Amino acid sequence: MSDGPRVYSYWQRQARKTHRCVECLGDIQPSEKYEIFNGCWDGSWDEYKTCLPCVELRLSLGELDSPPDFGGLFGYVLDDGTAEQYAAVIKIYQDKNMFVPPYMLTTLQQLINQS
Ligand SMILES: [Zn+2]
Repeated sequence: MSDGPRVYSYWQRQARKTHRCVECLGDIQPSEKYEIFNGCWDGSWDEYKTCLPCVELRLSLGELDSPPDFGGLFGYVLDDGTAEQYAAVIKIYQDKNMFVPPYMLTTLQQLINQS
């Protein structure tokens, strides 16, 4: 966790070539929409590209005192997320044909049982 950027802007764009999502590390395919976030942290600019399912997952966290850094969303959800958010992570992996570690399915079942 770190302080947010002093200056930032973000917008949505349609991909013309394949990009990599900073959160799920999956591909953002050409013609798919994604979010670009440009910010200045401690005097240096960084740019992050996020696929829309991950943007939605980030929004589902609501307002947090110390939100996860870019690239830390899944780690945050897997540690502290609700069963619904955990399920959203698994769905993103499945929708992108990415490997879902078996422990994640077990953990999701446990979260559902607890709720
Ligand atoms: Zn993503």
